[in-house]
Amino acid sequence: MRTILKRNTTSLCPECFKQVPAVVFCEEEKVFIEKECPQHGPFSSCLENNVNFYKRFASFSVSPDPFFHTLVLPVTYRCNLACSYCYAHYSDLPDRPLGYFKELISQFKGVIVGLSGGEPTLREDLPEFVSYIKKSGKISSLLTNGLRLVDERYLRSLALEGLDSVFFSFDSFSKDFYKLTKGEDILEQKKKALANLEKLNIKTVLSVTIYPGINEHELKDIFLFAFRNRHYITQLRLRSAAPVCHYEASGRYFTSDLIRMFSKQVNIEEESLLKYFIGRLPHFNLKREGHTIHHVQLLMKGVCVGDTFVPVVSRNALIGTFLCLKIALQKKGLLAVLKEGKRFFNIFFHVNKYKKFGSFFMIKNGMHIFATEFINLFKLWFGFFSMLPVRFISWPTKDNIDLEEVDRGIAQLTQSGDILNFCHAIVFDENFNKGRKRSA
Ligand code: SF4
Ligand SMILES: [Zn+2]
Repeated sequence: MRTILKRNTTSLCPECFKQVPAVVFCEEEKVFIEKECPQHGPFSSCLENNVNFYKRFASFSVSPDPFFHTLVLPVTYRCNLACSYCYAHYSDLPDRPLGYFKELISQFKGVIVGLSGGEPTLREDLPEFVSYIKKSGKISSLLTNGLRLVDERYLRSLALEGLDSVFFSFDSFSKDFYKLTKGEDILEQKKKALANLEKLNIKTVLSVTIYPGINEHELKDIFLFAFRNRHYITQLRLRSAAPVCHYEASGRYFTSDLIRMFSKQVNIEEESLLKYFIGRLPHFNLKREGHTIHHVQLLMKGVCVGDTFVPVVSRNALIGTFLCLKIALQKKGLLAVLKEGKRFFNIFFHVNKYKKFGSFFMIKNGMHIFATEFINLFKLWFGFFSMLPVRFISWPTKDNIDLEEVDRGIAQLTQSGDILNFCHAIVFDENFNKGRKRSA
């Protein structure tokens, strides 16, 4: 039986990409979005496999005044890999000049600037990007496949310019995986780059893409690796591959599917995960604590015993806390711990600048970033070190995007020069690239 969940929302026509009215409904367990373009007719697509999950995390509303705390800038569309699933590798698109990006960064009112691609480290002037972001009082993130980070001297040069964090793509411990999806075995290079990040003490977000039938069985191993290395791995992102642009997935996982698979592998009931480990996200929507149907964060607290993760909830966390403060001091040293404190206060003053603009909305968002940094600081100081944030992400695509449900905290520069919500921008670029061949 069909039950309507949303009568009036907005999606995109998967043919012409124009905004069209849409309806969301469920049939048995699954949630669908249905829309009609005046020119291209009706379309229907699955939005979630689990209606209860959808009801729990859907926002059912849209902010009239979205605020972006993060701006992602693809600084080049060139890349030194040619992954089969890539949506953003177009060597024939020329690099924009540094001055173009400086202008965008100086006008951006948010706090975090992500440098992405293609592969951003192919730009020789990347250190200048990092230092400009630093001078602007903002936080820099590098989104990379990590191949250039094998060169410790290069990574050190970025760190010296003030690089704050690295989003490092790491999808598998299997050489065959890399041969299959990237045409070459780059596992050892990935491991070496990770070792450099650890050595230079650079905050690293491990970004994993899950491909149905290829690497989902590795969820637990990757989680344990990240958890054991949480002195420098500050977050684990598990994202399902989505059929965007030229990548035609043979199947796809929705957010609830990722959480279900993770729950089975770490042997913690799904409901317990969502009840005891749910964590706050820096997001404008306070009501839902920042989670969306495409983006849920769990704060995994516990200890590793052999290859088993033993969750720690309630009072035991205090013991873990002190143990972890000890680890923080041992692994990072007092100086690094104090430096982290200084960075935190810098951000605090940066965020406070928003007050001058007099917008309650901006202050509120600034406070979300502030809260996230506060958690990071305490992770280091007081052993939230026993905790690893794990984010489960499924991107919407042209078929099932509901513009009310996409995370509005992160913006991305599109290939045509617009700044849009991240998920919308990815789909928008797909239209831009229609008919163009991806680089080999
Ligand atoms: S997905 Fe692969 S080919 Fe595409 S930008 Fe990333 S590393 Fe390069
Ligand atoms: Zn259309």
